[in-house]
Amino acid sequence: METASSSPGRRARPLRAVHTVLGIAILLATLFTALPSRGLVAGDFYERLSLILTPHAVEGAPLNAQPQLRIGIVAGHSGNDAGAVCLDGNGNITLTEADLNLKIAALVQEKLTQDGYQVDLLREYDTRLNGYRALAIVSIHNDSCDYINDQATGFKVAAALNTNDLNRANRLTACLIDRYRRVTGLNFHAGSITSDMREYHSFREIDPSTVAAIIETGFLNLDRELLTKQTDRIAQGVVEGILCFANNENIEPTPAPNMTP
Ligand SMILES: [Zn+2]
Repeated sequence: METASSSPGRRARPLRAVHTVLGIAILLATLFTALPSRGLVAGDFYERLSLILTPHAVEGAPLNAQPQLRIGIVAGHSGNDAGAVCLDGNGNITLTEADLNLKIAALVQEKLTQDGYQVDLLREYDTRLNGYRALAIVSIHNDSCDYINDQATGFKVAAALNTNDLNRANRLTACLIDRYRRVTGLNFHAGSITSDMREYHSFREIDPSTVAAIIETGFLNLDRELLTKQTDRIAQGVVEGILCFANNENIEPTPAPNMTP
């Protein structure tokens, strides 16, 4: 992580202090003017900015309060519809996004439970989403099974727009991107984060204190093998992203994501 906030050392002079204040003011102005139009796109600049602006919690602080120990995992489309579907040559469904989402979500739940969290596995339109309070909530989805082009591979992450703590929302997003990429080896597919992702219905219902993100863990077409044969690794990537956020772990500055047309 870059040290944007160098500590005022012995050599600090008034001029330098003015520069620092100006720098922070410009950063904040950029953040707030950028928000309405760009939303919470998890671009490189945004990630770094959020990291800089996020105050670090007290290290080793016990996670003992109830909402701090609770994590929600939404299995996208579960209980509602199939989501994206894969068909064989005869038009028969060979894989549905909803089934895969649920499989991943259940593994994430199992792993986080082993780490001592109380994890709710939620359906797409789960009634528990109403006023849902937790440390974080992550909705798991996957992308189309149609062949689009050779760039239609990789994952996407977007933060919820309705949170009252945008820094923490960006922090969760940055954690998910960094850890998921490392664990799975998939590329962050930044070019096609849609408003559907950012204004995802489930997140409109949850308590605004709950930090939320949606992850599309891959494309059912080109990433199918990894998603279905190494599902545990996929789930592990999501788990490590959530733990990074929960434990306030350090994140290395990310290289510029692949922008696809
Ligand atoms: Zn979906």
